Amino acid sequence: MTDSIFNLEQQNSSVDAKIVAGLERVGEVFRVLLWQQSRDTGLSPIQIQVLLFLAFHEPTQCKVGYLAKEFNLTKPTISDAVKVLVQKALVDRITDPLDSRSHHLELTPAGKQMVDQTSSFADVLHGLVQSFGQEQKTILYESLFKLIFELTQRGLIQVQRMCKTCRHYRFDGQIHYCGLLQIPLEAGLLRLDCPEHEQVL
Ligand code: SF4
Repeated sequence: MTDSIFNLEQQNSSVDAKIVAGLERVGEVFRVLLWQQSRDTGLSPIQIQVLLFLAFHEPTQCKVGYLAKEFNLTKPTISDAVKVLVQKALVDRITDPLDSRSHHLELTPAGKQMVDQTSSFADVLHGLVQSFGQEQKTILYESLFKLIFELTQRGLIQVQRMCKTCRHYRFDGQIHYCGLLQIPLEAGLLRLDCPEHEQVL
């Protein structure tokens, strides 16, 4: 049988393989929870994800090209999702006053209501994590942070706004530090999605 983490003989004799299989299960839970919201709202999972992104990010990031990279999808796929959101009066296209060819996307009042309705879709996972002990949470977060950073380095996550890729981030071998906020970043304070993030050039 092929060498694979999905080969149960191999998986069950390797913690590494079991971790990867576990991550796949968690990813499936996100898909299932999103589809539940999708059935309830009549929106597709990507349309819901776009609404949630628009609700919590800067206008400069709320553009079709940026969203395509964010979700690892093509521009036409995002454009189609946005077209439906505009037709349903959940999103407006706002033209840049300095450049009429450029625009960003903004939630309408109905779009904000939809975000209120859908933004708790992952709360079941949040509740479970909250029940973990502090040490367990720190280890889990540090491991996820490292994993996500390595995936960005390999181009598998295209857009990231995490500390380790920010020009304000410092590490002296022991302590992580934010030069902008001027605070030490203990493991729990390291950010995955920071509004002040500035990409290292
Ligand atoms: S600005 Fe944000 S992303 Fe950059 S180091 Fe500080 S906390 Fe991290």
